[in-house]
Amino acid sequence: MSNEKLKGWNHLPEVPLKVSPLFDWPPNPTAVGKWIWNSWFLISERLIIIGVAIACYLWFQPSLTETKSFELSWLAQIYVRNMLLVIAVAGSLHLWFYTYSAQGKKLKYDPRPLTVSGKQFTLGGQIRDNMFWTLGSGVLIWTAYEAVLLWALSNEHMTLINFESNPVWFVAIFLLIPMWESFYFYVIHRVIHIPFLYKKIHYLHHRNINVGPWSGMSQHPIEQMIFLGSVFVHLFIGAHPIHIMFHLQYYFLTAVTTHTGFQGLLVGDKNRLALGTFHHQMHHRYFECNYGSLEIPWDKWFGSFHNGTLQADKAIKERRKRIMNK
Ligand SMILES: [Zn+2]
Ligand SMILES: [Zn+2]
Repeated sequence: MSNEKLKGWNHLPEVPLKVSPLFDWPPNPTAVGKWIWNSWFLISERLIIIGVAIACYLWFQPSLTETKSFELSWLAQIYVRNMLLVIAVAGSLHLWFYTYSAQGKKLKYDPRPLTVSGKQFTLGGQIRDNMFWTLGSGVLIWTAYEAVLLWALSNEHMTLINFESNPVWFVAIFLLIPMWESFYFYVIHRVIHIPFLYKKIHYLHHRNINVGPWSGMSQHPIEQMIFLGSVFVHLFIGAHPIHIMFHLQYYFLTAVTTHTGFQGLLVGDKNRLALGTFHHQMHHRYFECNYGSLEIPWDKWFGSFHNGTLQADKAIKERRKRIMNK
């Protein structure tokens, strides 16, 4: 093994990147327990998003009696709430990392700044472009899906899961959402990398070679519709309104956080909150690798895993050549 590192990165995390131990064989219960604990119960994005979902449910959520029919008042309420949530999360991360450069280049993967202006972007600049697609179509589709599912729940077109009547399934759904997302995201993401679909749809997201918080949901509206559509799994497995809210917030807000371009938020000199993944950052630079997340090792199983080492880099480049020569 050589100690040579990948070139062209300002910050390299510890490589090779580790995938979750959930599917290790033979099973390793201690590692699995630790993974679940770390990804849920240390201060983590997930815990924060659960907190946000609970707060929204308690204070900013229309009741199931109200959502029996589509009324402008509650539709506007959840639209404004979702809009403010994204602005708060993406906006504050952008201010911290880029506007005020609060931690300089510490833990920043790519040495380059974001592209201030460029003809390839809508409205002529990366940040404006990214905000346009995130806040324009992104929040609208998110809200529309949420509204339809709340309406379906209210009118008993799908099963309502209560903590009181079904505590095990109620809790299990929270744990399953990130795993389902990981599967769904991988499959769809690979499909939209088929050249025809890439040129029509996915190119828009990939104009961001270097990413920032607003890049996460900066996608073609059709792509947003497909990805956010993962929430319709609840038509089959049932849900409580809080599951629907968490599911959509989880997808939308972790798309924002994984694209920050930084490995984490430093307070003092300690990494207090894991944010951007190098796994996905490499996808933006090298394209034909790391379509999924680390939650379920799809990339490892299907030969598209770039673990951040020079050896993996060579293997991925050879794979790309093979694909191109087909
Ligand atoms: Zn992609
Ligand atoms: Zn991306």
